[in-house]
Amino acid sequence: MTVRLYDSKAQALRDFVPLREGHVGMYVCGPTVQSSPHIGHLRSALVYDILRRWLAYRGYDVAFVRNVTDIDDKILQAASEERAEEWWALAYRVELEFTAAYASLGIMAPTYEPRATASVAQMQELIARLIERGHAYAAPDDSGDVYFDTSSWPAYGELTRQSRDHMEAAADADPRGKRDGRDFALWKGTKPDEPASASWSSPWGGGRPGWHIECSAMVTRYLGAEFDIHGGGLDLRFPHHENELAQSTAAGDAFARYWVHNGLVNVGGQKMSKSLGNSVYASELLELASPLAVRYLLGAAHYRSTLDYLPGSLTDAEAAVDRLRAFLSRVERRLAGTRFAGVGSPVIPDAFGEAMDDDLGVPQALAVLHDTVRSGNQALDDEELHDAAVAHGQVVAMVEVLGIDPRDPQWATDAGPAASALDSLVTRLIEDRQAARESKDYGAADRIRAELTAAGITIEDSQTGTHWSLGS
Ligand SMILES: [Zn+2]
Repeated sequence: MTVRLYDSKAQALRDFVPLREGHVGMYVCGPTVQSSPHIGHLRSALVYDILRRWLAYRGYDVAFVRNVTDIDDKILQAASEERAEEWWALAYRVELEFTAAYASLGIMAPTYEPRATASVAQMQELIARLIERGHAYAAPDDSGDVYFDTSSWPAYGELTRQSRDHMEAAADADPRGKRDGRDFALWKGTKPDEPASASWSSPWGGGRPGWHIECSAMVTRYLGAEFDIHGGGLDLRFPHHENELAQSTAAGDAFARYWVHNGLVNVGGQKMSKSLGNSVYASELLELASPLAVRYLLGAAHYRSTLDYLPGSLTDAEAAVDRLRAFLSRVERRLAGTRFAGVGSPVIPDAFGEAMDDDLGVPQALAVLHDTVRSGNQALDDEELHDAAVAHGQVVAMVEVLGIDPRDPQWATDAGPAASALDSLVTRLIEDRQAARESKDYGAADRIRAELTAAGITIEDSQTGTHWSLGS
């Protein structure tokens, strides 16, 4: 049972060996909060949510960090175009949209979710260290810019296996003050037309951090100078991740042990872009289908493949989810009150585990899931209740680990005020029960469970917490 991951830096499948036994430190580049979340953002966040859940299932304690880039050229530009809004107000408004979209798909909140603007001191410290070591320089003009000196770092290009000789000038900043077009900005001096609120004082003058330095500083702050997994979209490999790697290692940090990149999303066979006007926003997806079907669709392809979104994709996903839901309610109805109820323990089939261990083979794992549903339905047709109970336990275990359990109350679509009031009351009781168990007051814990059962509420304890549902 060894998890294997495709490490983009090694360009090979590697056995996953964590830095500290039993623990995983994982950093994923989060969104630049300039405009509403689209299908590509959701897919990327979901890929790492599934990886995180799988590592947790395999027994690792996962510290998951996903940042929010809340200061950037694009945010300043978007805010100044709209005028009515301060850049920080725009950034926070969009951040809330991302949070809501992630939550609607059951993407777990990160362990830590740092905003770039809250780690400027750590970024300055890293820049100072790079200058001291001879890998960065303040621009000789009065711009206040600081650049990474790519010529000082022979390993530059190692992530994407490019030779510096063949690289073109970076497009991320004005060429002002650069010694070489391939150098990239660590600190950007404030320009006259920029708001004072977007300027931090520094040893090099007022300014703001470059994009790449943000991630290097935040990952080190939360996970240490060396950590296990760095993830992000394939489009971030160069220059963003190449530059993160160069500046962190040049500063003396060992940095990421595994680099994982997810494939991008095409729409109708075409690359999605603002200029083509074919972006599919989270809000549109959630109008077209249930959140569970959207989660199923975006998680179903292998994470390294390009996901092609087509009209009809969501209909297929909805049908797949319906098959899971129909089997679970059928088998639970049939087994209720028989000696087979609760017989099938929630254990994943070996083939499912092997597929997930093998570079997160979700397509193969889903094939195992649907095969199990088919054989479970067959067992019900044949009145083979023991076999049906075993299939039930396996299906429950598989949908839980993938985060697609149709019975989970979070997917309930008729969540009116009554449903949310019920949810808050039941959640309170579940927390009380948990507290009672922690203080070893098992009598009280059992009483709470009995009260819930008497009210027609079933609770289930699992590795991801306690879930509740109506009915037995
Ligand atoms: Zn990043």
